[in-house]
Amino acid sequence: MSRRRTLRTPKDLLDAGLIASAGAVAPVARAYAVALTPAVVELIDPADPADPIARQYVPSAEELATAPEELADPIGDAAYSPVKGLVHRYPDRVLLTPLLVCPVYCRFCFRRARVGDGAATMAEAEIDAALAYVAERPSVREVILTGGDPLMLPPKRLGALLGRIAAIPHVELLRIHSRVPVSDPERVTPALARVLGGQEKPVWLAVHVNHPRELSALAAAGLERLARAGVPLLSQTVLLKGVNDTPEVLEDLMRALVRHRVRPYYLHHPDLAPGTSHFRPSVAEGRALMRALRGRLSGIAQPTYVLDIPGGAGKVPVGPDYVDEAAGEVRDPAGRRHRYRAQ
Ligand SMILES: *Cc1c(COP(=O)(O)O)cnc(C)c1O
Ligand code: SF4
Repeated sequence: MSRRRTLRTPKDLLDAGLIASAGAVAPVARAYAVALTPAVVELIDPADPADPIARQYVPSAEELATAPEELADPIGDAAYSPVKGLVHRYPDRVLLTPLLVCPVYCRFCFRRARVGDGAATMAEAEIDAALAYVAERPSVREVILTGGDPLMLPPKRLGALLGRIAAIPHVELLRIHSRVPVSDPERVTPALARVLGGQEKPVWLAVHVNHPRELSALAAAGLERLARAGVPLLSQTVLLKGVNDTPEVLEDLMRALVRHRVRPYYLHHPDLAPGTSHFRPSVAEGRALMRALRGRLSGIAQPTYVLDIPGGAGKVPVGPDYVDEAAGEVRDPAGRRHRYRAQ
């Protein structure tokens, strides 16, 4: 029975053999929320000190070092939030964060200063205000539920929320960003699949997945259920040192995703969240990894490598690029240069 419980305290982690001493991580657990679901614990090899799953969830004393460039709100959500729980940075789409709770807490989370706060769940009146904001703005064509993890909402409540959003005439598209299909796959029930696949307007789901081992048999069954219910599936991956920063791991991950009917969407350069510098490769390293994928992997398995500009200026692809306009040359996937003049 106790094996099926979410681990939340340093003592839980110690008892599970995931840390060597509770004292060392106690201050980390006080600063940032901790949670590992049974599904995630099962993926960890406790004998491997560099286990890529453990690294994503088990708190480490390295998190206490906040680098000078790191920010509590690294992508400037607050600056672009006209009403509580809504972020409006681009004319045609808004983010809605109905809750800031997740089944697991990732050590590199870009909203780590805010997630884990059950009290931040939007009240009905706050949801009403956010939806009124959308209803008044015909330029908004897409509403993106993020968090926290929107799939923590009971399917009936989620269905009711999606239904209200879909009823706004100018909203064409709904999107959900979630880690639940890999962090707590048991929540991907037939009822949830019916709710996502059965809306009047399309609901796209972007699944946060960082390592091929996260696509367990249970996770795969959930993805299949969603795909069969008619939910278009995308992925987002955070590029993380010691987790997925090799061409081999990224290749395996992207191949596994397309096998499970998930179209790789974004590879995120990690945001400047506090206490996460041990996870951040350089952009040059990220670009080299993307170059390694190009030529090795099918076009449909290629994610776009993006950086969210600190402060809220938005996401931009950060290459690599293959064109040298000044020289009138283009590089092939192997790096060889070819003459090419496009007028
Ligand atoms: C990331 C983000 C989006 C979604 O961007 P896409 O490039 O469409 O995936 C929308 N609004 C905000 C504020 C974001 O941070
Ligand atoms: S699941 Fe997403 S929002 Fe939740 S802790 Fe992980 S990265 Fe942050």
